[in-house]
Amino acid sequence: MASVLYEILATLFPPQCAVCNAVGSGLCDRCAPGSAARVTVRLRTLRLAALGRYEASLRQAVLALKAGRRDVAAELGRRLAACIEPASALVPVPTTRARRLQRGFDGAVLLAQIAADRANACVLPSLEQIAGDAQRGRDRSARLAACGRFAWRAESSLSGRRVVLLDDVATTGATLEDCAATIRAAGGIVDEAVVVAWA
Ligand SMILES: [Zn+2]
Repeated sequence: MASVLYEILATLFPPQCAVCNAVGSGLCDRCAPGSAARVTVRLRTLRLAALGRYEASLRQAVLALKAGRRDVAAELGRRLAACIEPASALVPVPTTRARRLQRGFDGAVLLAQIAADRANACVLPSLEQIAGDAQRGRDRSARLAACGRFAWRAESSLSGRRVVLLDDVATTGATLEDCAATIRAAGGIVDEAVVVAWA
């Protein structure tokens, strides 16, 4: 329903570049980061690939995504697909419930879905962000799969499965490492992460 509404709105109000306002897409080719802007970073246990640094036009695009611009998500997700091996399983880093309600969608989940469509990959949206209190009342297996601020929903098995983490921005990589630890605790294999921007 939401996507039908979005299609109608997109027809009535064609997307405009979040940076230069050119009509046609949420982020025009001129303002989007080229392949030369790509950054790779070695985190503690992960290899991180970013479309570019969190500055100038890419920063503006990320802020527009965070403000709820789906047309910008479409363009960034499309470009992230180029950093993803076909047939990968993508695990988006979940945002908090409050932020999801505020934006109307989870930015990383939407990016992952768009990138997965393009790269013939799949999305496993099974990480959840947990507050200390939310741990209470969880069943034992869910508690065992919890690690730091994240938990892996026990109903989707990960044993031996290789996944790629995906997020909008990475600053220190600590959140990605937190997610990676949770995935490993749930039996998955992860050594790569892709993000839009490295701050
Ligand atoms: Zn532009």
